[in-house]
Amino acid sequence: MTSALIALGGNVGDVRATFNKAIAHICGMAQAELVARSSDYATPPWGNEQQARFVNACVEIETSLDPNALLFTLQRIENRFGRDRAREERWGPRTLDLDLIAYDDATIRTAELTLPHPRLFERAFVLVPLAEIAPDRVIAGRTVRAALGAVSTEGIERLPDVGSR
Ligand code: AMP
Repeated sequence: MTSALIALGGNVGDVRATFNKAIAHICGMAQAELVARSSDYATPPWGNEQQARFVNACVEIETSLDPNALLFTLQRIENRFGRDRAREERWGPRTLDLDLIAYDDATIRTAELTLPHPRLFERAFVLVPLAEIAPDRVIAGRTVRAALGAVSTEGIERLPDVGSR
């Protein structure tokens, strides 16, 4: 079993409910155990700012899938929750985005998969929830805590827990 970090995001529909269902699917379909789940955070929209704010969270899982199979599984789950990559605009509204942030300390650079995730260190909306569950994790030579200290967290707000968690 290998530790993998996954970032969740979305801004269409009941995103927090989608996250809970998606996490259950990740555990079921990726032969995975949930090690940790961050709180949900409301975050400013990125890329195209003329859209609803996002909700973001991160999970750590232990999985027996290899990285490519895990990515494929995450994409199947995105599709199941209504994501249609062919029709959506880049950086535009989406029901569910699942990014593989790190897989153990693997470094991979293929057409389909880059690990660690190439935009991790510029994304406070990933680093804030990640720092809640894995502050001391070293990714590409930096701790998550140190990486978080280097970005602005303006506009990011932790959402109160809801009973169904
Ligand atoms: P996005 O539309 O932003 O979710 O980007 C998904 C695309 O990025 C897919 O074509 C993936 O094959 C590719 N990709 C490369 N590295 C990663 C990663 N670490 N996690 C998720 N998608 C990745």
